[in-house]
Amino acid sequence: MLTERQAQLIAATLEELRPKDWRAQQTLDVLSVHHQPYDFKTLLQVAINAALNPSIKSPSSIFLDGKHWNLPEPPKQRPVNPKCPDHDWYDAHACHACDADIREGNRPEQFRGHKMPKTPAPRPANWNELTQAGT
Ligand SMILES: [Zn+2]
Repeated sequence: MLTERQAQLIAATLEELRPKDWRAQQTLDVLSVHHQPYDFKTLLQVAINAALNPSIKSPSSIFLDGKHWNLPEPPKQRPVNPKCPDHDWYDAHACHACDADIREGNRPEQFRGHKMPKTPAPRPANWNELTQAGT
């Protein structure tokens, strides 16, 4: 459990490390939702590891499992990543099956890692132009 001061310290630290894209309020919002099982020392280390990794794009990824959770003293509990509802063998945030569907044009980008609706996505307004362009 974090105190408000501890959460603010983490948020300010991350904003210093990632001044262009990790706003303190963004981190505070994430911490207010997720911090329960972790103590300050663990969360500070994990958050700094995450912020120092340029491939991690936002503070919300702090609570996804990854290398930033590899600590000198491993935490008793690591986060469990949500699975893709359509491909439960992949984590939702990194579903390679969704990526393949998107590349093939079979899944709109906004459904990466999310359940596809039963009805197909509507065709674009210029569908006929697009499909007849090559004929
Ligand atoms: Zn998927």
